Amino acid sequence: MEIDTEAHPFLKAKFGHLIGGREVESALGKVFETLNPATGKVLARLAEGDATDVDRAVNAARIAFEGPWSKWTPYERQVLLMRVHDLVDQRFEEMALLETLDMGSPITRTRNLKAMALQALAYFASQTMTPSGQLLQNNMPGTVKSMIVKAPLGVVGGILAWNNPLVGQWFLVGGALATGCTVVLKPAELASLSVLYMVNLLHEAGMPEGVVNVVTGYGSTVGAALAGHKDVDRIVFTGSVTTGRRIIEASGSNMKRVQVEMGGKSPDIVFADADLELAVPGAAMAVFNNSGQICTAGTRLFVQRGVHEEFVERLTAFTKTLRVGNGLDPEVQMGPLISQQQLERVMGYVQGAVPEGATLAIGGERLAGDLANGYFVQPTVFSNVTPTMKIAREEIFGPVISVLPFDTEAEALDLANATEYGLGGAVWTRNLSTAMRMVDGIKAGSVWVNCYGWMDIGVGMAGYKLSGYGIKGGPSYVDSFLYEKCVYINVA
Ligand code: NAD
Repeated sequence: MEIDTEAHPFLKAKFGHLIGGREVESALGKVFETLNPATGKVLARLAEGDATDVDRAVNAARIAFEGPWSKWTPYERQVLLMRVHDLVDQRFEEMALLETLDMGSPITRTRNLKAMALQALAYFASQTMTPSGQLLQNNMPGTVKSMIVKAPLGVVGGILAWNNPLVGQWFLVGGALATGCTVVLKPAELASLSVLYMVNLLHEAGMPEGVVNVVTGYGSTVGAALAGHKDVDRIVFTGSVTTGRRIIEASGSNMKRVQVEMGGKSPDIVFADADLELAVPGAAMAVFNNSGQICTAGTRLFVQRGVHEEFVERLTAFTKTLRVGNGLDPEVQMGPLISQQQLERVMGYVQGAVPEGATLAIGGERLAGDLANGYFVQPTVFSNVTPTMKIAREEIFGPVISVLPFDTEAEALDLANATEYGLGGAVWTRNLSTAMRMVDGIKAGSVWVNCYGWMDIGVGMAGYKLSGYGIKGGPSYVDSFLYEKCVYINVA
């Protein structure tokens, strides 16, 4: 299939891996295609890596870590991060467009991510001096000085999901550059272009070769090789629970540190006293944002019985106003799903819901006509859902809301926590006491009151249960890129 390289200045016929500051082909010379999910057309051909390529990239990262990069002062790393910040500021329009082409998200949404990316880079630039250690008291005889010193972990492997590389990658790379680690990135095979763009930009900003490397390709080969590699000190993973388990198992090869961020089936709880002007669009976009392909999506919508009927009506009316289409159109609010496979998965859940007893309030169809070649599903709301139905239990990762009624606060909390996941959760109420009891009671790594899905680099996001562990962002995040070393000095 012909490639439309005119669609974006970054596009070209073929992309290689980025290893040791150079673009290189796969050891086996293999390539794979990445598609535009709005049209089903090939966007680019990328090098398909394997374990040999991962080995080359890890070696390059190790050489950079032990070599020139380790001599960089915190100030030099800070200046690099500030240069990257400024380049991202100048180029973000190009980056947003690339992400829209590669993963389908509406251009208005990808453009809006600019502030988050810039704030992350400014934050990491401000953190290069913080790994400070501590001088501590001790009970040793004689004169012994004791301290904890901190040092960069080494080579960090990053295995990314496809649903938000444009911003997600900066959290990992920013943390590594702030602390003096080096990186090997394995982007998701369905959306690698933002990651390749980013690493080119890092080099333009003056990053030494080998500090951040990219190996493109599939999870079962490239991802597995990186997760099991004995010279990788830490893995940061974003993706599904199934893969997360494999990553944790593979990390045993050399006891590497692991941070795993996985899926969710997050509760969104609307009390009868809530401001519905805020809660209706808030609850809708808690799922329809990015076509439901957001790990924290509030897909289990619990509505207190007093306003349940009205809420479903207003939610349905709001959903009807949403414009679905090719994300390049600035009027579009919801783009396609990422792939044919994801489309079939989502449609499987949608088609199984009514036979299980749910009521289709709106949506439920794949879009045809001009959009038939893309992977578009209507924003969909089901009411009369019960907690045991499949759509109420499993992560769909598509634009599907399940509405469930509740009566009391205690019941809402029980229902909210009756899941294996624990990524996000929200409560809509005007009552501060109710809000605080729910904040305390919801077992999730992020909880929102009268808003949904907000995340700030200075605060972070975390996970409970199957949603994973290790906070991303916030005061302790930079520390997760560091070793602690306990030092005792006998000065007698
Ligand atoms: P996935 O687990 O299939 O893939 C994620 C990454 O892992 C990809 O790069 C993939 O190539 C790689 N991979 C696959 N098999 C591997 C293996 N055996 N060893 C090593 N790597 C392997 O997930 P996905 O379908 O790409 O992403 C969707 C999932 O990600 C959803 O569950 C979503 O909730 C989750 N997610 C979580 C967060 C978060 O921050 N918690 C953010 C985004 C997405």
